[in-house]
Amino acid sequence: MISRAEPGRIRLALPNKGRLSQPAVSLLTEAGFGFEADERRLFASCSNYPLDLLFVRAEDISEYTQDGVVDLGITGTNLVVESGAVVDRWLQLGFGRCRLRLAVPSNGPFSCLEDLSGKLVATSHPRATAAFFADRGLEIGLVEIRGAVEITPLLGVADAIVDLVSTGTTLATNGLRPLETILESEAELVARPELALDRQQLADHVRMVLASVIAARDRKYLMLNAPGSAVPAIRGLLPGMGSPSVLQLADPAMVAIHAVVDAKAIWELLSPLRQLGASSILVLPIEKLIP
Ligand code: AMP
Repeated sequence: MISRAEPGRIRLALPNKGRLSQPAVSLLTEAGFGFEADERRLFASCSNYPLDLLFVRAEDISEYTQDGVVDLGITGTNLVVESGAVVDRWLQLGFGRCRLRLAVPSNGPFSCLEDLSGKLVATSHPRATAAFFADRGLEIGLVEIRGAVEITPLLGVADAIVDLVSTGTTLATNGLRPLETILESEAELVARPELALDRQQLADHVRMVLASVIAARDRKYLMLNAPGSAVPAIRGLLPGMGSPSVLQLADPAMVAIHAVVDAKAIWELLSPLRQLGASSILVLPIEKLIP
């Protein structure tokens, strides 16, 4: 039995292995929480914040959070939904993106959802699958499988599957094609409902810091010099956060412009900026962004 966190400290559970594990550790490290993690550890204490980390199976994190074993958890949307645990869903973390999809044999007889009425569907997500078909008023037989779900139609164990998909290559390799998306999933920060006030404040701070790292990952800090006469046109090109800073340079005809811009848009901006006379363009990473 794992005890609860000490008074004055909060506890966050994160996956001890699998594809959410390393990105969760990186996010906390980038956020500035100081701790030592290695694969054999169950616990780590942060040296610079009253936060203890518990490394457990991603599947167990929602229930630990619901039950108050931990105050916060990082796990996948699919696992939150599948557990049926009652947790507050605080923040989408932007990694571990995948979809829970219904797929059927590419050369099979099923072309729409209704064709699956009365058929067998294999999945390791029985709760989400049952809810999906019940919502549509269709009765199916559920075959609960732990892993390698995509092989079951080939083995004659099921007619269709519901499984996690990111690129779709595994589906195609097994002669399957997606029919419907049941759920969009990514890593999430979840919280125990009704946290006591002192814990709530500590947990809110963790949420704020993680949100600032995630916001910063999508943005870049752009600095450039330009003729003062080009400012209105350059402002029109920079739809970033709020108004850019415009600073007078020693040359009275020139200004420096600083702006926070969408990281994905940066390469498309460079040539129009140069055409407007921009020079000495610097693109810098942002560590944290607090709006
Ligand atoms: P793992 O521990 O590596 O099996 O994966 C745990 C979680 O990673 C899943 O429950 C999903 O939330 C997430 N995930 C992201 N992409 C995928 C994917 N392509 N296949 C399976 N899980 C994925």
